[in-house]
Amino acid sequence: MDEVVRYSFRLRPGRTAEAALLAEWHRCRFLWNEAVHQQKSGNKPTLGTLSKLLTDARARSAWLRAGSQVAQQQMLRTYAQALSQSFTVKGRGRPVFKARKRTRVSLEYTRRGFTITEGRLVVAKGVSIPVVWSRELPSNPTSVRITQDSLGHWNVSFVVRRNARQAPPAEGGIGIDWGVSTTATATDPSFDLPYLGHRRRCAAELAKAQRTMARRRRGTHGPQSGGYHRTVRQAAKLHKKAARQTQHDARVWARSVVDRHGLIAVEDFKPKFLAKSRTARKAADAAIGATKRELIERGVRAGRRVVIVQPAFTTMTCSGCFARAKQRLELAERTFRCQDCGFTEDRDRNAARVILAVAERGCTRVEDVRRSDHRLRVDGSVAV
Ligand SMILES: [Zn+2]
Repeated sequence: MDEVVRYSFRLRPGRTAEAALLAEWHRCRFLWNEAVHQQKSGNKPTLGTLSKLLTDARARSAWLRAGSQVAQQQMLRTYAQALSQSFTVKGRGRPVFKARKRTRVSLEYTRRGFTITEGRLVVAKGVSIPVVWSRELPSNPTSVRITQDSLGHWNVSFVVRRNARQAPPAEGGIGIDWGVSTTATATDPSFDLPYLGHRRRCAAELAKAQRTMARRRRGTHGPQSGGYHRTVRQAAKLHKKAARQTQHDARVWARSVVDRHGLIAVEDFKPKFLAKSRTARKAADAAIGATKRELIERGVRAGRRVVIVQPAFTTMTCSGCFARAKQRLELAERTFRCQDCGFTEDRDRNAARVILAVAERGCTRVEDVRRSDHRLRVDGSVAV
């Protein structure tokens, strides 16, 4: 079976190519902002009307004509999509103005707008850029996105088709509970993912960079100093490094979990819940978010049964007899003790077992299991 995925690589544009990409971005940004303006002034900019406006504008403006029509059209397509999603997707705001300094470059080209020639990516208007090919493309790409990150590095991602990797057949189930000190606690301890705290290790260096930043001219009166810019960049670099390491750990872990389990029960984790406190906590939250996404995506792709379980009562319920504790466990209390059956287990491990038990019964909430058959044991027998 085929699957559609993105393959990303670093780009190393020369000075000319970089200038061309930036110019292209500013033209696209202008069109986006024009569309935002249309929407704000009460016109309803659909893709149809926007495309027509683009044709007119290109006829009049040599500046726009100097850019690629494919990239410009793609930008408007993205806008139209963002606008329609802002009506249908809960919590999604209207597309906003893209300021020159606050937005990152993101250009998209469909098949008409790019070729790969002699190992270089050539986009419309003859801009030729060397790609760092870290692996081979499995097929001819159907579209490409060029981006620049906060450090000024250029990246490209190709949309390609490839043969889906066959995950080995696996029977058993696994339950996953998310946490701060251990990112993922599994029903089987060998699948625990400890929080390695790459970000925590970076935190000291980061704090140093931020103190330097505070000493330097940050632009409240007059322009920002060169030294300020350098430290901003250094801080961004540290952030990125930590995020990349976290991502790598998440991938390796998710793959091993998905390969060995047919049923994957995951606690539904809402980052907002914890993120209001300290920086370290926020970093742990980000690690959980990334790991959860990776696990769900891989599980679904491999055709496993992935069940998202609501976190309510998972820590208060006994995984041995499904009785619920009268009181919520204090966060410092690491051990769960059942008042009914005397079952004792590590707090997070117990929660993971409850999550798996809920999913095994085809439910997504502890409440549903309790309601359907009161006091059911994990092994399926009913307690009397
Ligand atoms: Zn119990």
